[in-house]
Amino acid sequence: MRKPIIAGNWKMYKTPAQAKALVQEIRSGLDQTVLSGREVVLCPPFVDLAVVEEAVRGSGIGLGAQNFYPKEEGAFTGEVSAPMLKELGVTYVIIGHSERRQYFKEDDDFVNQKVLAALKNGLKPILCVGEMWSEREANLTEKRIETQLAGGLKDVSPEVFSALVVAYEPVWAIGTGKNATPGQAQDVHRFIRGWVAVKFGKELAENLRIQYGGSVKAENAASLLTQPDIDGALIGGASLTAGSFLSIIKY
Ligand code: PEP
Repeated sequence: MRKPIIAGNWKMYKTPAQAKALVQEIRSGLDQTVLSGREVVLCPPFVDLAVVEEAVRGSGIGLGAQNFYPKEEGAFTGEVSAPMLKELGVTYVIIGHSERRQYFKEDDDFVNQKVLAALKNGLKPILCVGEMWSEREANLTEKRIETQLAGGLKDVSPEVFSALVVAYEPVWAIGTGKNATPGQAQDVHRFIRGWVAVKFGKELAENLRIQYGGSVKAENAASLLTQPDIDGALIGGASLTAGSFLSIIKY
């Protein structure tokens, strides 16, 4: 049985003081009954990680980072390593988000370096894949997803595969208010699980959690998250206020 994982990607929002206040609000709306049925993870900006770690302590809410640089240490001005994140109490790290692919030109090879470095350092990658609208229109969705999965997961050994989460995030649905329909999302999730079954075996595929991301909000959460191959959500905009995030968690 796969436990749904609901993660909030705060992107470049919230100062440390705002982050602390938001966590306190989220905490006060969650009880152990809800948390026994879902894994909840917050992915704030780097500068908020220490504050958020302290604020979630003892609550059962997990901590994720939005990025890191795939070297242990070195002369990489402005970058942050996996061991640094680990020491701060980070468990998950988002890798291959479409905003990083688009604005920071991160390709599948770099995404793969990050996946391997995260796994080596005991961080759980949330690997994001998703097609552009033009690719969907040209019937290239599955081809695009397959390329991203094959590139991002190159040299990942089956022994460590269970640490992974995949997030299907159609680029055209991110931050646009236009979510994939439950049917569209389910089709791609089924495809992803099938691809993983062929490459890594049926058991790992069955246990893999595949989140949907792209304009998830309180109103559409239940219809998306009750699809058979959708195991939670990666949420941007709607994770920035406690009310909407809590409604999604309690879908
Ligand atoms: C995201 O940033 O991963 C995302 C899904 O954003 P939004 O929920 O705002 O579409």
